[in-house]
Amino acid sequence: MENLLKIDLHVHTVYSYDSLITPYELVFYAKKRGLDGVAVTDHDRLDGAIKIAGETDFLIIPGIEITSLGGHIIGLNVHESIPPNLSVEETVDKIHELGGIAIACHPGAPFKGSLKNRVTSKFDAVEVINSSAIPFNHCVKYAEKIAEKLGKARVAGTDAHYGPEIGYAYTLIDANEKVEDIVEAIRKKKCRPFGGPIPLTVRLKRELLGVAKKFF
Ligand SMILES: [Zn+2]
Ligand SMILES: [Zn+2]
Repeated sequence: MENLLKIDLHVHTVYSYDSLITPYELVFYAKKRGLDGVAVTDHDRLDGAIKIAGETDFLIIPGIEITSLGGHIIGLNVHESIPPNLSVEETVDKIHELGGIAIACHPGAPFKGSLKNRVTSKFDAVEVINSSAIPFNHCVKYAEKIAEKLGKARVAGTDAHYGPEIGYAYTLIDANEKVEDIVEAIRKKKCRPFGGPIPLTVRLKRELLGVAKKFF
């Protein structure tokens, strides 16, 4: 590996109903954490990711986290939205038809709408590190087993919903700073996951801000 990019492949913005991250904060915290780019993966919508990518010079990979009937699936480098509530297979096929890659995100995490044993060989990658998944070590082990069994690329992302959570996990990718090259490199397994869980103090601050947002 030579030209390694450091990218958090799973970040939610205010375009997700449950995230606090504004486009400004997204870029601010990503740069602060020394990332080369981020994938914006809002819940069941792509418009925010496309808009943000068009408004900044910072590297943004447009993505979407789709609520399929079998669990959450991330599509990266798609340019059209994919509807929720399709089967796992239909969802992955649609991502591929649109030229994107399908990632089985947090496959073993409880309370997150996870795929569990519904990850198939059609997927391009498995998110083995998800910084928001609890219990963290159990979730990593579970996902590692799936990635190994299916022989798929292993990636990492934070699933951040609050600016300071960005960058606690990232994927090192051997590619040029072009979205097409990056997803191709992931498909070819020219990447490695790094990072850990979001620290409890950061998590608590997010919860408090989330509550405050609801009431004021
Ligand atoms: Zn999810
Ligand atoms: Zn997510």
